[in-house]
Amino acid sequence: MSQCGSRTLSFLSLVIPVYNEQATLPFLCQQLEEWLPTLGTIRCEIVLVDDGSSDNSYAFLAEWAQSSPQIKVLSFSRNFGHQAAVSAGLAYAKGEAVVIMDADLQDPLSAIPEMIRRYEEGYDVVYGQRICRQGETVFKKVTAWAFYRLMQSCVYKDLPKDTGDFRLVSRRVVDIVNAMPEAHRFLRGMFAWVGFRHIAVPYVRDERRFGQTKYPFSKMLRFAWQAITSFSALPIRLVCLWGAFVACLGFLICLYAFYCWCIGDTVQGWTSLMGLIAMLGGSSILAIGIVGEYVGNIFEEVKLRPKYLVEKTLNISRKEDPKAPTSKES
Ligand code: UDP
Ligand code: MG
Repeated sequence: MSQCGSRTLSFLSLVIPVYNEQATLPFLCQQLEEWLPTLGTIRCEIVLVDDGSSDNSYAFLAEWAQSSPQIKVLSFSRNFGHQAAVSAGLAYAKGEAVVIMDADLQDPLSAIPEMIRRYEEGYDVVYGQRICRQGETVFKKVTAWAFYRLMQSCVYKDLPKDTGDFRLVSRRVVDIVNAMPEAHRFLRGMFAWVGFRHIAVPYVRDERRFGQTKYPFSKMLRFAWQAITSFSALPIRLVCLWGAFVACLGFLICLYAFYCWCIGDTVQGWTSLMGLIAMLGGSSILAIGIVGEYVGNIFEEVKLRPKYLVEKTLNISRKEDPKAPTSKES
């Protein structure tokens, strides 16, 4: 176990997923080139993961990689999604500590020195906690607020509020997460599950300056649903409770029907019967759907397919390449 204040960081990796970010990459490149010298004696590599971009992002990354060997690039065979891109970056990163950040610099580089200080104090996961989100719509702020509260109350009580993937993680935690074989990766939940010493670094989230968000509402909903069903059996438990409630209600209605039959009043009740049939039909389909969702997740997991396919790498030697990562290896 690391002791407080007992270590000095000498090698840092930055992992940056990139999906159709041609508008933002020149700004990222310029900001990083200004910022890197401020790290002083800390060696730094930047692992950029091109998640199957269809614009000129890869061409920019390829040119950037020529300027310095510390710029490492992975390019996927297609779009595998943000969490897969970060997972690949974590598998390829070699630093003693790894910072995960977005390409759009909404999470500022200026928060990283404080994260490093916390790491050197002995913390294994130093996550950025947003105290304010600038330039985002009220809708995005409200849904993000609701997402973290829902996740905390339903999925995992230790999941820190108002944190994205922007965080510094120690080598031992990166190795553990790399060894976790699940195909559905909700990384911030996985980091919370791993445990060790966690601490928050508060920061103001800037607005996106270039390009569009890659998380429209439909994708955010899918992400939230995936996070819930990959981390929690709560929806299935709720379905069981609902089933029990409907069964009790059905029993009471049987008693009522029997009573009506006894007093010879059996013609009435068509409306309530139709209502009941509709309600039972709807809730059964919903229950089957939720169970189906879990079966689908199990199906994806047992296939043991790789979580992503790396088509090309730049500035990554054979020795550094954890070879075609399979779901078992990465
Ligand atoms: N991203 C990715 N693959 C995707 C979607 C997004 O690699 O399928 C990257 C994207 O380029 C960015 C980061 O993930 O670096 C976060 O995306 P975005 O900034 O659009 O999310 P938001 O900040 O709006 O939640
Ligand atoms: Mg962003």
